[in-house]
Order: sequence, then structure tokens, then C-alpha cells
Amino acid sequence: MRREDWDKWLEVHAQMKTKTKAFCKCSTQFHSSPNSNVCPVCLGYPGTLPVLNEELVNFSIRMGLATNCKIRELSIFARKNYFYPDLTKGYQITQFETPICFDGFININLKDKEDKRIGITRIHMEEDAGKSIHDFHDDETLIDFNRCGVPLIEIVSEPDMNSSEEAYQYLSKIKQTLVYLEINDGNLEEGSMRCDANVSVRLKGDKNFGTRTEIKNLNSFKNVVDAIESEKKRQIDLIESGDKVYYQTMTYNAKERKTTAIRSKEEAHDYRYFPEPDLVKVRVGHEWISKIEKELPEFPEAKKIRFVKDYLISETDADELTQDKVFADFFESIARQLINKSGKSFRAVANILRVDVKRILNEKKISLEEFHVSNLIIAMIADSVSAGNISATASKEIFNLLLEGKTEEDQKNIFKKAEESLSQVSDNSEIELIVKKILDENPKEVERYKIGEKKLAGFFVGKIMQESKGRANPKIVNELLIKNLEA
Ligand SMILES: [Zn+2]
Repeated sequence: MRREDWDKWLEVHAQMKTKTKAFCKCSTQFHSSPNSNVCPVCLGYPGTLPVLNEELVNFSIRMGLATNCKIRELSIFARKNYFYPDLTKGYQITQFETPICFDGFININLKDKEDKRIGITRIHMEEDAGKSIHDFHDDETLIDFNRCGVPLIEIVSEPDMNSSEEAYQYLSKIKQTLVYLEINDGNLEEGSMRCDANVSVRLKGDKNFGTRTEIKNLNSFKNVVDAIESEKKRQIDLIESGDKVYYQTMTYNAKERKTTAIRSKEEAHDYRYFPEPDLVKVRVGHEWISKIEKELPEFPEAKKIRFVKDYLISETDADELTQDKVFADFFESIARQLINKSGKSFRAVANILRVDVKRILNEKKISLEEFHVSNLIIAMIADSVSAGNISATASKEIFNLLLEGKTEEDQKNIFKKAEESLSQVSDNSEIELIVKKILDENPKEVERYKIGEKKLAGFFVGKIMQESKGRANPKIVNELLIKNLEA
């Protein structure tokens, strides 16, 4: 008996990019020194009173609208009571029975399949706890309270996902939406998104879910995928050996690639939720909601269609550029700087961003924000490529040189010099000399080409471009190569 079908739902905790905390005026800055962003309210001193940050409500509604949720006009906060050293209040302020957003969905893209709709059960507002740091000393735990009271939204999905691939696509879409809305920085390493995954297995065709387990605190997409796969295997093995799955809270050890139980149902917390008496009810009228709706940004799908229409770039290019809002904005800022605003120039910009810029970001392991070649310089390169002054291959060489320049003025000078020395050779006789030289140097390959190995043309083009240091006009190279080979 093989259990193939399985189900899960995901809970995502996303940190909101508000300037101040959920219920006090402390800063939410990530790299502050430990215990510097704290006050009596977020440390939970007796007698202090929380005041709700309006921006947290705005951000939650934004996410709700972007994920097709209904917005609750009257919602309340609740106290979730539990003790933990990094939660000095002894309770967390969250929403329980009346989340501000509910009943929504998003569509995820799956490879070679139709888009799939994943239901969003609810989105609610809450505060984060402090951070216990166990790995500084062997016998001591340090506590940093800076994270206490940092605003979060929790996004809970329906159990609509049937593979770890679907879970991955779902998380990617949630992250993309949060970043597009500018309410979360998408920085998983700094913990601005954390995920709990509920996993159960059932026989193919079975309508009822099996007993689920919950894997807590997964902090990367890769860990979510791996943890789900490990847990799925553990549950199937259990059932097939005649045992059964118990409802448990699990933790995932990425080193051992294993899930292990940390709590059983008998030990499950009873949080004794009750309405938070220190906060008023949250009332958001139609006007408030429709104001936020009007200010929603253009989302990737719409942006992609507009890029193809306005900039005449390919659908593949538009798709890649709009995946990341920072990249899409950068593309448009370069497009505005172009002297020659034609499809050819826009396509050159797309190509430079996808090939040269991405290569440098990968090599140097930096983000686009840390990339210091300005939109104006990239526009100059693209104009030069589209005018035929330099080849697309030469732009790679130019970028390597540009990284040496510290200021925009330096970079302009570097570019102008490089443009001169790398300017494309379109002079037929000069190129023909190189073609002849390469053919003379590779007589065996010429022979093989002549008896039918036509794909060797690429080999010769590569050699010729190398010899010309990327300067030969590729179109002329191709023409002259074929002419000389077929002669
Ligand atoms: Zn505070």
C-alpha cells in the first residue's frame, strides 16, 4: 500500500516594514545594538498601556486586498497567554476569532501546468516576541528584546497544496506580493519571513485528511521544501510499518535533514485566549478600505503585459524583469534615460540587466541596491549597443572595467574610453582577414565542417569573436564565415 497523496497548509509570519513597533514608539530597525529599541510598553512593565500603530492596520489591509480577502470592518485583539523568558509580558497580543482579513486566495504558477488557486483562510495582526540567543555561550542564554512588539501579520493558507513544489511556489508568490506592496523587505536571513508547515498524508482518492503534524519555525524556502519531504516520508514509513501518526509539533534539523517531535498533543498549550482589555476595537470603514485599494501598486502580471506593450521586449524578458520589483523599477529608470527610445534600445537594456548585471550580482553576491553602476551609464551602454557601436559581447568587458570606477563621472570616462577601444568593427576586409586566419589555424575542423558537421560554425564564430576581442560585428562574421567555408 503506497500513500501518494498528501496535504498541507502553511502559516507565514511576515514582519511589517513599519518605522515603529505595533503598540509603542520604539524603532523596528534590525541592526540596532541589543536591547536598545525597548521601552516600558514593549517590555511589558505593569501599568503601561499599548496603543495600536495605524500603519500595521494599513499594511494588513493592503495584503488582504492583494490576496483577494474580505476585510473585516470590526476586529478585536486577543491575549495569547504563555510564559517564555523572551516574552516578559507573559502574553502575546494577537487576533484570534476575528482576524482583520479572511477568505481570500492567490493563484500560483506551476511548471507545464495550469495555474492553481490556493485559498487564504485568514490574515491577522500580532506582535513578535524577543529573541533568545543560545549559541553565544555554552552555558548561558542571552536575550535581545529589540524584537519584542515588532509588528507581524500571520497569513494562513487552506490545505490546498499537494506537493513541496506547490508549497515553494506559494511561498514565492506570498513573498513577491509582500515585497511589491512594500510592507516587508523579503529578507529571509534576517527572519523577516518565517513559516510553519502542517503536513498529513492520505491514500490517493481519499476525501479525508490524515492526522497532521506541525513543523515549526522554518526560516528558508529550501528548509520548507526539505522539511515537508522528510516529514512526508516519516509519516508514510510509520503507517506502512503498522504504526500511526500522532498529532505532534515538530522541529526540522537541516543538518540531519530530519524532523523530530518537540511536543505531543497532551503537552499542547492552552493559551486561554481572551479579548485584550487594553486596546479598543479596530473599526475600518468602506472609505478607509477603498482609499487603500486605490493606492495598491501595479502587480507583476499587469506590469509584465505593460512592459511587452510599451517597451516591445519579449515575454520571457518581461517575465524575468518583473519578478522582482526593484529590478522592474531599475529597468524603467534606465529606459527613461535612453537617448534612442526604440524597441531595439529597450531590448538592449533588458539584455544587459538579465545577462551582465545579474552575472555581477551573482559573482559578487550583492543585491541590486548595492550595485553602483547608475541607470544613466547603463542607458549609455544600451544606446551604444543598439546603435551598433559596440557588440553585446563587448558590454561584458565594459562592465568589468566600470566596477573599478567609484563615481558616476569616473564611470562615464571609463565607458567613453572603452567604447572607443571596443567599438564594433563592421569593415568587411578587416573581419575577413580574421576569418581567414582562424580557418587557416583550424584545418581539421574546416575539413569536418565540409563533410557535414555544420554545427562547427559556432566554434569558428567563437574563435573569431575572441580574436577580435568581441569587436567584430557578429552579423558580418556569420556572412563572411559561411562565404569562406563554402568557397
Ligand atoms: Zn517599546
